[in-house]
Amino acid sequence: MTTQAGVIDHSSGDSTTIVDGATVADEAARFISAGVVPHVIGGERRESIAGGQRELVNPSTGNTFGAVADGTAEDLDAAVQAARQAYDDGRWRHLAPREQEARLHRLADLLEQHKEVTGDLDALDAGILRRYASYISQYSANALRYYAGWPTKMVGQIPPVGPDYVVQERVEPIGVMGVIKPWNGPGAIFAQVAPALAAGNSVVLKPAEHSPLSATYMALLALEAGIPPGVFNVVHGDGVVGSALVAHRGVNRLSFTGSVGTGRALAAAAAQTFKKVNLELGGKSPVLVFPDADLETAVAAATTTVWNNSGQVCTAGTRTLVHRSIYDEFVDEAVRVSQDLTVGNAFDPASQLGPLITPAQLAKVRSYVELGKSEGATMRFEGSVSCSGGNYQAPVIFADVRNDMTIAREEIFGPVMSIIPFDDEAEAYRLANDSEFGLAAGVFTTDIARANRAAAALDAGTVWLNCYQVTDAAVSYGGAKASGYGRSLGAPALEEYTRRKAVWSRNY
Ligand code: ADP
Repeated sequence: MTTQAGVIDHSSGDSTTIVDGATVADEAARFISAGVVPHVIGGERRESIAGGQRELVNPSTGNTFGAVADGTAEDLDAAVQAARQAYDDGRWRHLAPREQEARLHRLADLLEQHKEVTGDLDALDAGILRRYASYISQYSANALRYYAGWPTKMVGQIPPVGPDYVVQERVEPIGVMGVIKPWNGPGAIFAQVAPALAAGNSVVLKPAEHSPLSATYMALLALEAGIPPGVFNVVHGDGVVGSALVAHRGVNRLSFTGSVGTGRALAAAAAQTFKKVNLELGGKSPVLVFPDADLETAVAAATTTVWNNSGQVCTAGTRTLVHRSIYDEFVDEAVRVSQDLTVGNAFDPASQLGPLITPAQLAKVRSYVELGKSEGATMRFEGSVSCSGGNYQAPVIFADVRNDMTIAREEIFGPVMSIIPFDDEAEAYRLANDSEFGLAAGVFTTDIARANRAAAALDAGTVWLNCYQVTDAAVSYGGAKASGYGRSLGAPALEEYTRRKAVWSRNY
């Protein structure tokens, strides 16, 4: 069954409804209860062709609160065909660049106006802390605004090469972009989708199966903003739909955010059809704390990065490397500032750590905590969980961690902090870089020369000096080593989502 999309019921402004015990905006409740949350294909809301649906489970309670379409390769094919048709007939890429910009700005406006709705949706299906969830939508709106400025600036260069020839280096869209997203920041889709649209591409997005709501809602807002039907499609499903997207011959370029194992398999599969892929994978990011650091700032930043979203953030600084001369003091302080953390329902304003996404993720994190103990690390702190029903993991701090322990080598994706001592600067860099990953790093020091040395020495896609997890849509982002390749955000992302063509002509 299909129905015309682009029509979201924005009536009844600020009133609220209870969904699974949580107070959410009426509009969020209506969106969920209007029936099975659909795919958005060719500007229409569509059920799955084979009729599949998947339960929506609230990670804060374990309760089912709705259902989403569960697609197959058939639905994916329909979305790629819609995207291809929209690309081929030029309804988006041939629009005047000024008009493209106006519509991308309109979409950013709509997203900002409805970020409390998408915040509710992200808190419900992904367990993102409600008071934090709207910032993810704002992040998406910021990316849209940044890229909304680009269509008028993307012109080719025409250098003369002598009297007989003229060459034009054209910058063109690639065609149909496939975007696959994980569940840990579901509303952040425009980090990838905005540059793809600004460059004139069509998009087929597959959100994670556990957190499909806000992406669907945002695709409907895109229609409302005037992004033509078929230009931005959303297909739901699990890895089967994801791998169909990777293999589809009608898809020209891929962007994947997710785990290392899936990213590795995906890159190999993409090679079969010669698709370039952007991979944004995991991390085991080091935070280096030197003796001359402002201890209070360093402790606050180093702990916040691990507790943030209950550790389910790619850039979480899960290896804290601390100089031995301040090691004991640092560990004591990290424990002290974490003592009163409240773990609970994503909608409870008192919660500082929400649930993990699924019981399986919770079991995985718990097994790493057990492994840390059996490998000989000292568990200096384990918080408490007072509520039940959801996938709750108490925050854990391990001291006396060695960099060769499993908890220091593998991405845990939970609230587990590992504090490792070092004796001198060279050892700090050696330990920091002795990792399969290379996503991000933090450095805390008041010595400017040391900060500059560290920035050069660290093998990571982003280095934060005396701060952590600061981002901006204008600044590119990406990883090294097993953390992936390709840059998202900033001007470099436009290079990734366009291709160049040299057109030579001879004057007779
Ligand atoms: P996690 O294990 O954290 O869920 P994944 O990397 O498996 O991380 O999932 C990230 C995204 O990749 C999700 O949207 C998921 O459905 C999708 N996915 C999973 N397996 C595949 C695959 N083989 N090919 C393409 N996408 C996949």
